[in-house]
Amino acid sequence: MAKTLFEKIIDREIPATIVHEDESCVAIQDINPGAPMHLLLIPRKPIPRLCDAGPEDQALLGHLMLAAGKIAAAHGYGEAFRLVVNNGAEAGQSVFHLHLHLIGGRPLKWPPG
Ligand code: C5P
Repeated sequence: MAKTLFEKIIDREIPATIVHEDESCVAIQDINPGAPMHLLLIPRKPIPRLCDAGPEDQALLGHLMLAAGKIAAAHGYGEAFRLVVNNGAEAGQSVFHLHLHLIGGRPLKWPPG
């Protein structure tokens, strides 16, 4: 199987600003930020979409959520941040390797567009 864009970033084949790394995920700065903090939390495991995750991924998904809170706090936005997962092209997903957008540092309206 061809590597996903994010696998290439994780493997340092494509440059990115990595702000966090642990045994199961990597966080990078989004190349086209929509807020002062706009990070992507990417599991090392290349699950294409959230809806492709299974029961075996439960701990990994929990890890991503907990890591997001810690990373937001490390960036000074621990009290006000948003996590977004675009699932599927119609929902705005463009890279088919599951990732969480971690956004903060500006007023965030609801509902999102
Ligand atoms: O949810 P979606 O799949 O659209 O998000 C992909 C994100 O990956 C975009 O926000 C885009 O700016 C980001 N990206 C990146 N570095 C790349 C290619 C895409 O940060 N080399």
